[in-house]
Amino acid sequence: MSKTFLAIGECMVEMAPNGSGSYVMGFAGDTLNTAWYTRKYLGDDWNVGYYTAVGSDEVSSRMLDFIQGSGIDVSAIRRLEDRTIGLYLIQLTEGERSFAYWRSQSAARCLASDRSALDASLQQAGLIYFSGITLAILPARDRTTFLQALRTARTAGAQVAFDPNLRPGLWEDADTMRTSVTEAAGVCDFVMPSFEDELTHFGDADPNTSAERYLAAGAGMVVVKNGPEDVICARTGDLRAFQPKSVANIVDTTAAGDSFNAAFLAEYLSSENVEAAVAAGAGLAGKVIQHRGALVECLQPA
Ligand code: AMP
Repeated sequence: MSKTFLAIGECMVEMAPNGSGSYVMGFAGDTLNTAWYTRKYLGDDWNVGYYTAVGSDEVSSRMLDFIQGSGIDVSAIRRLEDRTIGLYLIQLTEGERSFAYWRSQSAARCLASDRSALDASLQQAGLIYFSGITLAILPARDRTTFLQALRTARTAGAQVAFDPNLRPGLWEDADTMRTSVTEAAGVCDFVMPSFEDELTHFGDADPNTSAERYLAAGAGMVVVKNGPEDVICARTGDLRAFQPKSVANIVDTTAAGDSFNAAFLAEYLSSENVEAAVAAGAGLAGKVIQHRGALVECLQPA
């Protein structure tokens, strides 16, 4: 197996209030968060790359510098002349966070528009990671292209991991979201949903139901996260539950699932031990949620 972990999706400019009326600029996005933590957890013998499309402008260059500066390979990222990167702004209303987005014309929406560039990038990868947000932002025809490219990469030996990360506001409608996510699960070795999303948007009675549904769609292994409750790891005919360690002083649950996925996959890729992988995932997520923000610098593997 090639020792390249390739995450695919959209990274955006983040404008976060600094508490005195202005904003601090950063860069974030669900798949980038996972790549960022995976870089910290995988050994130096692994290359961690990110695949997306950005503009040719200054802010796009700054984003690439940021990603590269965290040790992630950006060499495959496409640069487009006529677009730039998306942006979101964090709004605080009486302590509650909400988000305003400017991403409908972002360059990342074109990430699957060039099949040969996509194939060239996927060919290098041993593990390909993407999310429901990656799919949601694509034009419908490019979703088909993207899944075909994943099938081709898988036939050539790559493994594929997917977090459904259900965000109906990004999709044309909820039925398309459910159908597309179910089809995507069928080309995956690992499907890693958060039960809260699955309950809300698929109406699953419990996490076991979510696991069974994605197995029936063709997933190899399903890992269902559920906040402080048991993590369910299921393969056909084998369903196990693992209790994550309890976490005190939770400050901000942003990137809990993204960081869990990173440490789970990094551990599983080296040990193929599900219990150790859940412990790694929950251990990292448990630390991340004790800090503010998606990317917590100070955390090191245990
Ligand atoms: P989620 O996507 O919210 O289900 O959370 C992903 C992972 O983060 C969970 O599987 C836990 O390992 C961890 N996590 C999230 N919320 C909590 C919590 N309240 N207490 C302990 N761990 C949590």
